[in-house]
Amino acid sequence: AVDKEKVNSVAKIKVVVRKRPLNKKELAKNEEDIIETLSNSLVVHETKLKVDLTEYMEKHEFVFDAVLNEEVSNDEVYRETVEPIVPIIFQRTKATCFAYGQTGSGKTYTMKPLPLKASRDILRLMHHTYRNQGFHLFVSFFEIYGGKLYDLLSDRKKLCMREDGKQQVCIVGLQEFRVSDVETIKELIEKGNATRSTGTTGANEESSRSHAILQLAIKRSVDGKESKPPRVVGKLSFIDLAGSERGADTTDTDKQTRMEGAEINKSLLALKECIRALDNDQGHIPFRGSKLTEVLRDSFMGNSRTVMISCISPSSGSCEHTLNTLRYADRVK
Ligand code: ADP
Ligand code: MG
Repeated sequence: AVDKEKVNSVAKIKVVVRKRPLNKKELAKNEEDIIETLSNSLVVHETKLKVDLTEYMEKHEFVFDAVLNEEVSNDEVYRETVEPIVPIIFQRTKATCFAYGQTGSGKTYTMKPLPLKASRDILRLMHHTYRNQGFHLFVSFFEIYGGKLYDLLSDRKKLCMREDGKQQVCIVGLQEFRVSDVETIKELIEKGNATRSTGTTGANEESSRSHAILQLAIKRSVDGKESKPPRVVGKLSFIDLAGSERGADTTDTDKQTRMEGAEINKSLLALKECIRALDNDQGHIPFRGSKLTEVLRDSFMGNSRTVMISCISPSSGSCEHTLNTLRYADRVK
């Protein structure tokens, strides 16, 4: 039976901001840390110019569910964001954790360790609390690049998507690996991440234009019948989104870049609308707006949970992008 109380105790939407430290490049340019943080709010100190070119400061204050400053470790990020969700994945819940932000703000740094930590907890629950109950853990990892799907665990094989009659998303040909130990999961995650970054024009450049989606699915064999395909009980998805500034590449001179920028822009807007619709309990969720939201369709339906981690750079040079990221996060919360 589903433990409703347990499920209801976890917020439907949680928006968290993570600020990274100033890096060497920013320090070398004498850029300043313009982000002042408190436990669940932050202030951006923007320097502006008057018409006579004298400087003045403008403060922008934002409140979120939590604000994680540059001293917060990846372990603490896990505890704040994904850890509370793990137990309810066994209770027919689908949950998604997003990392949003401009390129270089710390999305991948933040996202990379989360699936591994979550799998560790999932396996622990499977081997103890849910021992011998027919649960299995499956891992898949793919990316959306220019509106197309590629399998990151199968040499970037091109994939396509189909809906079955029951509004479940089916990605045809996507490799799913059944895993029962942390070491295997670690290898799969590393393999996927390596596949992701082997682009032609340099690692960060390529990956900043794609959304990487790692899914942990919990399935259960029906009445212990190993012959029948196991059914999905719950799913936990980790999405390392494309650099948010890429959505503005819509006036680039290169046609390919322009088209990719338009696709990214479309998907980030559609994502925002879908998350907002979740909170309003509206019947209609506008997931048809983009490939990203179509792929996540079943994670937006029924009883689902969303965690948005908005990553920001502290530096004065990133002020505009940071404000854009915070405004996006503010619309979602
Ligand atoms: P993105 O994926 O958003 O483009 P990355 O995760 O690649 O950004 O981060 C950019 C650089 O900053 C990397 O070298 C990363 O190691 C470093 N970094 C990001 N966040 C942190 C953090 N919280 N603490 C220390 N270093 C960080
Ligand atoms: Mg990245």
